Amino acid sequence: MAKFKGFLFGLFLVGSIALNIFFLTNNLYAGYVNKQQLSWSQRAAAEAEAVASVSCSGHGITYLDGLFLDGKPVCECNSCYGGPTCSHFLPDCVANADSGDPLFLEPFWMQHAESSALLVAGWHRMSYGFADQSSMSQVLQNHILKVHSISRNAITKGKYLVFGAGSTQLLSAAVFALSLNSSSLARVVAASPYYPVYKTQTDFFETAHFEFQGDALLMKRSSNSTGNVIEFVTSPNNPDGLLRKAVLQGSSVNAIYDHAYYWPHFTAIPAPADEDVMIFTISKLTGHAGSRFGWALVKDEVVYLNMLKYMQLAELGVSRDTQLRALQLLKVVLEGDGREIFHFAYEKMRDRWENISQIVSLSKRYTIQDIPPQYCNFFEKVRGPSPAYVWLKCEREEDTNCNAVLRGANIIGRLGSLFNASDRYVRLSLLKRDDDFNLLLYRLKELVSKEGGAETL
Ligand code: PMP
Repeated sequence: MAKFKGFLFGLFLVGSIALNIFFLTNNLYAGYVNKQQLSWSQRAAAEAEAVASVSCSGHGITYLDGLFLDGKPVCECNSCYGGPTCSHFLPDCVANADSGDPLFLEPFWMQHAESSALLVAGWHRMSYGFADQSSMSQVLQNHILKVHSISRNAITKGKYLVFGAGSTQLLSAAVFALSLNSSSLARVVAASPYYPVYKTQTDFFETAHFEFQGDALLMKRSSNSTGNVIEFVTSPNNPDGLLRKAVLQGSSVNAIYDHAYYWPHFTAIPAPADEDVMIFTISKLTGHAGSRFGWALVKDEVVYLNMLKYMQLAELGVSRDTQLRALQLLKVVLEGDGREIFHFAYEKMRDRWENISQIVSLSKRYTIQDIPPQYCNFFEKVRGPSPAYVWLKCEREEDTNCNAVLRGANIIGRLGSLFNASDRYVRLSLLKRDDDFNLLLYRLKELVSKEGGAETL
């Protein structure tokens, strides 16, 4: 019996070794054959790797479409770094926390260099349309739906998808679509403090069908919300990061929900959003603001068709190259259990918020917004804040222009009045690169420590 068991064990061992050798050589061979077979893509791949391999001291990047000097790519340095390899820190440089450029996600994409890389053939999708004559990739649509289902931030069932060149274009398309069939002038509003583009864009593109009318809260107080009204609702809000609902209600009120920041990166997701018009953007999901890609989820068919018409007339649909890029990025987002990017982004934003909060808590002159911890549908637990921006207030009576006060401390923020709020407020971006954030933290520490009574810094 023991002999028989020994024989079986031996057989199993030999079989298993043989199988391993088979699979290993097969894999090596497949790899070898693949490398041998690469032809037209080799030069492009080699060029991309050669450009990426130039060192900019960790404080800059070289780009395929950047400048070249003597055949070598020139480093584009992060703010406050200079020199040919970006190795020199410029000590008196200002901490620029003005723009919402979401470069905090750059390290995530560097960690995923291989899976996110894309090589585009010269003949890739030259046509105006896809095979089904639409201008939207079906595969990309499927990936978007999957990202929503993993992040649990939106109900997509029963909704139409429209692609846009960033959410900026879709915000405008939605205003057109919602006002196109209305019998009277639609008044466009947003509750203060609001993202300035709602006003600037609506004013600029104003037609006989709509005009910007300012603060939704004022309209509510004046009880003058009769007639057609379109309310922009930003949730979470830019600048203060708070979750919002429409201020105005009624059968003649249509809301456009701008969910640019409704991702676990920036907020707890109390429940999947289920509004009639919801707008999302890859800019704040993956950080690729430069790719200009966003999408709208729309419940009503007529509104959807009007938005499609806008996109068709404005630019015959979103660039197929942009759609390909977005698809590759979402494939990486969906790798594994599809949760990695949300963890990465949330932890980074949370740490930044905690660092800033700790410094401001030592100050008597400055306060920041209060964001309560909330249950999150994605993390399935109560979680703390991780907003995209600090909404900082100068509390001293004489500091009526908070931006000027910060400028004196070498910090650039965005003035409160741009958001239709008081200039006692300044928005500071937490979205930029580590180099930018670290300098902002340093300058804020300096500012607070000069107040006196805060020597502990
Ligand atoms: N909505 C809000 C609230 C934003 O903050 C921004 C960008 N800062 C946008 C829309 C525009 O984003 P996109 O890059 O998709 O045009």
